[in-house]
Amino acid sequence: MFDPKPYIRTVPDWPKSGVQFRDITTLFSDKKAFRQLVDAFVHQYMDVEFDAVVGIDARGFILGSPIAYELNKAFIPVRKKGKLPFATLEESYDLEYGQAEIQIHADALKPGEKVLVIDDLIATGGTLEASCKLVTRLGAEIVECAAIVDLPDLGGSKNLKDQGISVFSLCQYE
Ligand code: IMP
Repeated sequence: MFDPKPYIRTVPDWPKSGVQFRDITTLFSDKKAFRQLVDAFVHQYMDVEFDAVVGIDARGFILGSPIAYELNKAFIPVRKKGKLPFATLEESYDLEYGQAEIQIHADALKPGEKVLVIDDLIATGGTLEASCKLVTRLGAEIVECAAIVDLPDLGGSKNLKDQGISVFSLCQYE
């Protein structure tokens, strides 16, 4: 399995003192690593039956789009509030660094459709949890939540698993 860690840059004290920010732009900007990254997810899900990738604003778009394309799936964006033009469903949640609201188009998924939810990183898990709520409010089913990085000490992936949501990550930082 591809290990993305050598390509991830850690930025200390950003966006605030004490935070070790895992910067994945250095993973995306290495052309070979970016291909290996997408391929790792494609191989992970190529034999799994599902209908759509739900990508979370904004790094989940960068990762989710090529995975959806390669696996011949639809791509559905979950966006920060105020960006989607049609009727939306909305969820509020606590972020690692504040509060946020995200939205999905009300007609983005049909009841019974199966989705893979993708973001770059799981910290407290609030973003993925809210995204999963949007998906299930539309009647769709979550196959798995997937991310490049999990920060297990922050409890997000455990919280998702405790709710019966399957979670996959390529690497973890303790
Ligand atoms: P959570 O909701 O607390 O799990 O935070 C995850 C969200 O915040 C994801 O959408 C990430 O993009 C972003 N995030 C939080 N910490 C980091 C980090 O260290 N590196 C990159 N993104 C982060």
